[in-house]
Amino acid sequence: MIKLIKNAKVYAPKYLGEKNILIAGDYIAAVEDTIELKANPDLIEVIDASGKLVFPGFIDGHVHILGGGGEGGYKTRTPEIMLSDLIVGGVTTVVGCLGTDGVTRNMESLIAKAKGLEEEGITTYVYTGSYRLPLKTLTDSVQKDLLMIDKIIGVGEIALSDHRSSSPTIDEFSRVCADARVGGILSGKAGLVNVHLGDGKEMLDYLFFMIRNTEIPASQFLPTHANRNRELYNEALVYAKEGGFIDFTTSTVPQFIEEGEVRASDAYVRGLDFGIEASHMTFTSDGQGSLPLFDKGGKLVGLDVGSVSSLYESVKELILQHEMKIEEALLPITKTPANILKLKNKGEISQGKDADLVFVDEVSYEITDVIAMGSVMMRDGEILKRGTFEK
Ligand SMILES: [Zn+2]
Repeated sequence: MIKLIKNAKVYAPKYLGEKNILIAGDYIAAVEDTIELKANPDLIEVIDASGKLVFPGFIDGHVHILGGGGEGGYKTRTPEIMLSDLIVGGVTTVVGCLGTDGVTRNMESLIAKAKGLEEEGITTYVYTGSYRLPLKTLTDSVQKDLLMIDKIIGVGEIALSDHRSSSPTIDEFSRVCADARVGGILSGKAGLVNVHLGDGKEMLDYLFFMIRNTEIPASQFLPTHANRNRELYNEALVYAKEGGFIDFTTSTVPQFIEEGEVRASDAYVRGLDFGIEASHMTFTSDGQGSLPLFDKGGKLVGLDVGSVSSLYESVKELILQHEMKIEEALLPITKTPANILKLKNKGEISQGKDADLVFVDEVSYEITDVIAMGSVMMRDGEILKRGTFEK
């Protein structure tokens, strides 16, 4: 099916002005000032984007698609994500991961969930492993997982500096990073090591060690939750200044902010002011993960579930509250993660890229339409394609 989008104000994420976008099947065939087609009109679906801005589909590089949590017993295991949770948030590419619980959740079911979401219409990848080292891989090694399983593009989320981590030694951690590095090179994938940073005292110590003392380049690591408290955030900025990449979590609850979490949008703006390049900072939602509240004694006192919609909400804060240019505000959820995750057909609107698009109202910036791999998933605020078991 051929789709022709007219009157689109296109942010690629760079602003291109008003363009026509031609979609052939699942990819973008052309982006031009005007496109006239002589084919039978029955074969072409024309979509009028008047009054709307068109962005690349969003990339969320850290989502507990299978559910996560469980820190308060079995009943606190969070539910699986549904297709529409992603669509309403404009997310067309997602990287799924396991978290604290790598026992009742495993790689087989994570990959099955990712494949299911892909059958439903979006693009999915996963990280191999969970919080713990030694890593529980799908095959017998990290390298084999990366080389043999298409969906696996990296390792994680490995917990460091957290009371829920496996307290890995630096040698254990280095070995996994080296395997991810080589597996990534051999498979042509990112082989990224996604690190969960907790509230512990060690903060980014292991990551500083890796980029200062080993041959593994800083581009191999993406520590997340770098905004979870002020001290950690300040250290993360120093780490990024030394060449590291850092990720800010957008899901939050008011109590976290009160207790010192740095809002993702504020973290991004202050990072830029500090001299960190935009290409070194990303947002992820931690969607469907648990947001456990522990008291000072480590006792669980509350629990919430992360939302994928927080990803674009944080970008809206950049645009509306921080008055950042749209083309800059889109970077942490489009072009930058596409580069870091080595997803060459994602994150930009240009000829040959996958047809993943998000339309927003040009006044309210609310998401109105979502196209994933050339299929219209949401139109004028109405979800057209729901998950298999969604009403
Ligand atoms: Zn985490």
